[in-house]
Amino acid sequence: MSKKDYYKILGVEKTATTAELKKAYHKLALKYHPDRNPDNKEAEAKFKEAAAAYEVLSDTEKRKKYDQFGHDTYENMQQGGGHGHGGGMDFDIFNDLFNNMFNGQGQRSSRSQQPSGPAPQKGRDLQKDVSITLKEAYLGVKKEISYSHYFVCTTCKGQGAKNKSDIVSCQKCHGYGQVQVQQGFFSFAQPCRDCQGQGFKIKTPCTDCQGQSRRKEQEMVTVSIPKGIFHNADVRVPGKGDAGVYGGPSGDLFLHIIIQPDKKFTREDDNLVCTVMLTYPQLVFGCQINVELIDGTQESIKIPKACPVGEKIIIHGKGFAKLRGVGSGNLVIITQCQIPKKLNDQAKELLKNYSDAVGTETKSEDGFISSFFKKFLG
Ligand SMILES: [Zn+2]
Ligand SMILES: [Zn+2]
Repeated sequence: MSKKDYYKILGVEKTATTAELKKAYHKLALKYHPDRNPDNKEAEAKFKEAAAAYEVLSDTEKRKKYDQFGHDTYENMQQGGGHGHGGGMDFDIFNDLFNNMFNGQGQRSSRSQQPSGPAPQKGRDLQKDVSITLKEAYLGVKKEISYSHYFVCTTCKGQGAKNKSDIVSCQKCHGYGQVQVQQGFFSFAQPCRDCQGQGFKIKTPCTDCQGQSRRKEQEMVTVSIPKGIFHNADVRVPGKGDAGVYGGPSGDLFLHIIIQPDKKFTREDDNLVCTVMLTYPQLVFGCQINVELIDGTQESIKIPKACPVGEKIIIHGKGFAKLRGVGSGNLVIITQCQIPKKLNDQAKELLKNYSDAVGTETKSEDGFISSFFKKFLG
């Protein structure tokens, strides 16, 4: 259990009203705002934490779930089953709130005050499939991911125009992006045609981004995929999605992990599983064998006397690293009996004698009745 608690973070009671939550959050957000605390990592972390807490508690549905399930379970639910969050990864859900509170306006469609220019919008999250081997999942791996996405236009610094004064509020809709249309008794809102519902116009758009504030370019990122990662996990790379529009925050990049099956090893939860082929005498008498592990190292394994087929020999701590918590799963070695297709004459003779000695019935490939039966017939 983590000690995190959204109520404690905001410093309010569990019974706090929406207004109390808002007030508490406002206070913290102003105190820890990055503009007031430049290069202060601690303040930034506190700011994000408060935003994350407020994001959940200010939403009636989310708050209900949070109260019902508790912090850890709720967090896990938000992460799509809980797999794939590697170490050092961050979240930045404060962005939407940030825009609402500090730029004085929300999404363009829900503007209630007179806007002064383009409203920043968050960039899209992007997803990419990444295929790795089971060995890479076991050891962890750095992957170079090449993809194209929107970057903030460096020429206009995401403004869409060289000078801020080139961006003017639309005269027709007074910056709302909508106009009221009267039809009979009814009055309804329609997107403004003059500004295509944008609420503003750019007199001289930036020539490099055509006033779009961002440009598509190729990017190469190196991502550390943590050891123990699961098949179908999503690794989040914060801020590496599309850049936001008009100064809005960037989206995230999600790497969808696909683990290719291995010829020798399989995975069961955090355990690494493989089978070893042994001869019948090895199973009967017991033996010491060398098994090559998935990382290429050799492990000396003791097979006990009178070991059955299908026995699971457990080597503790040699499985996958646990993504959450500490330690590792186990290496599970399942015994199999190697049945030879061909035997030399000596081995054949000895095996027949063995069969006789234990009194079992066998049938040889050339159709002879076994010696066991011969005793009775002969
Ligand atoms: Zn307009
Ligand atoms: Zn530009």
